[in-house]
Amino acid sequence: MSARWSGSASRSARALWQSRIDAAGGWPCCRCGRLVLPGVTSGKYWQPDHWPVPRELGGTETVPAHAKCNLSAGGKRGAAITNARRLPPAGRIETRPGRW
Ligand SMILES: [Zn+2]
Repeated sequence: MSARWSGSASRSARALWQSRIDAAGGWPCCRCGRLVLPGVTSGKYWQPDHWPVPRELGGTETVPAHAKCNLSAGGKRGAAITNARRLPPAGRIETRPGRW
């Protein structure tokens, strides 16, 4: 069980990015590229996302991302790991030869 990224580091990152987003009039989401709009507090709408190095790989830099983009990216990473484990051994992947 890894420690959750929370507490003072998370709070200061959110506060820092909130002021940057508000001052800049929006900041591109690092996941989808659309603007994270100013004046909306972090949490359900946006979150400081560990980018470009994921937190589990030791990343400490954060960039704003929409909460849903951040969560779906994390879900995809997890699914990719799970799917990789489920892949059948090489050579057992069925191919369908044409009938003619
Ligand atoms: Zn986004």
